[in-house]
Amino acid sequence: MNFEEIKQADQQYIAHTYNRFNFCPDYGKGATCWDAAGKEYIDFSSGIGVNSLGFADPEWVAAVSSQAAKLAHISNLYYTEPCAALAKALCTRTGYSKVFFGNSGAEANEGAIKAARKKSFDQYGAGRSTVVTLVNSFHGRTVTTLSATGQDHFHQFFFPFTEGFVYAQANNIEDVKSKITDDVCAVMMELVQGEGGVLPLDEDFVYAVSRLCEEKDLILIVDEVQTGVGRTGRFLCCEHYQLKPDIVTLAKGLGGGLPIGAVLLNEKMADVFGYGDHGTTFGGNPVACAGAQVVINRLNASMMDDVLRKGEKIRARLAQVGEVENISGKGMMLGLQLKTKKSGEVAKACIENGLIVLTAKEKVRLLPPLVITDEELDKGLDILTRVLEV
Ligand SMILES: *Cc1c(COP(=O)(O)O)cnc(C)c1O
Repeated sequence: MNFEEIKQADQQYIAHTYNRFNFCPDYGKGATCWDAAGKEYIDFSSGIGVNSLGFADPEWVAAVSSQAAKLAHISNLYYTEPCAALAKALCTRTGYSKVFFGNSGAEANEGAIKAARKKSFDQYGAGRSTVVTLVNSFHGRTVTTLSATGQDHFHQFFFPFTEGFVYAQANNIEDVKSKITDDVCAVMMELVQGEGGVLPLDEDFVYAVSRLCEEKDLILIVDEVQTGVGRTGRFLCCEHYQLKPDIVTLAKGLGGGLPIGAVLLNEKMADVFGYGDHGTTFGGNPVACAGAQVVINRLNASMMDDVLRKGEKIRARLAQVGEVENISGKGMMLGLQLKTKKSGEVAKACIENGLIVLTAKEKVRLLPPLVITDEELDKGLDILTRVLEV
């Protein structure tokens, strides 16, 4: 199919949940991709924080394709090596005791909410099931994770939503305290609110929430679906805060391009699920797990430092652009507040000029592949600067 035929079929047959950009990449390598006409694009998006190793990383391709040729899927009723090996690698790397694998961020958060509610039920009985989340958060698109999402405009049309979520102001510990009634079992938050506008939480606030959870025996869930797996220059963003939540969820960057989500459970939570309490058909798929293992192995200490360095480089370059009001975020998860331009229009102009960027509310959001080269970074920053300075 040529581009016009692709667009025509897409618009005719795919449910209209995405108003797509006029762009159809055909193949890629590292942080660069090309459309069928051979036009080059620098990638500052990684999908949405998914392609941690960029496009077509040779080691990732080899692991995934040899696993696909060997054994692509078998049900979770049986053991597989990629699933066991990935679980071991993830738990060893993060210090967590056990992991449950799903297929997406929303599913990982659903698993985390179920784990928290069950733990509380086992210990305290019924009626202690409310989860406090933060205003402006984003936790996913299922009916329950929409409930968990602290943004009113996601709470439309799909009634009735799952009960048992209340929202507290981020960086306002008094507001969190006021929401901790006897029916609360857990607090759930992102350390850098991603979709909400790339907003990192204050360190003091994070410590205070963590102390409060200890005091009240509440389960602390940190949603690292976007911040996790090296995105902020540490394997977990929690490491920046010396934070050890009871549950951490991962997804986006974990599989390096294949769908996978993970619920990490600490020692206290390790045995919360018994046989048959939770499940999934696809979760822990051998091909996805083989890809994720490559991602984890590659994210060593020097790679993490390089992510921090490249994040600083992006900040330093863009701080000199007059249109940029300020830059938020951590590592290579960055949000640009603009003075006069609209983020959506900037993203559109970037595509026309050969650069893929994202938006988060009124901000331009950058999530480049963790492996992006300095040359690709320079090329992309040149394009972005030109677009912003027009
Ligand atoms: C993207 C995202 C989700 C949802 O992940 P899906 O894979 O789209 O279900 C949940 N939480 C955060 C913080 C995210 O950024």
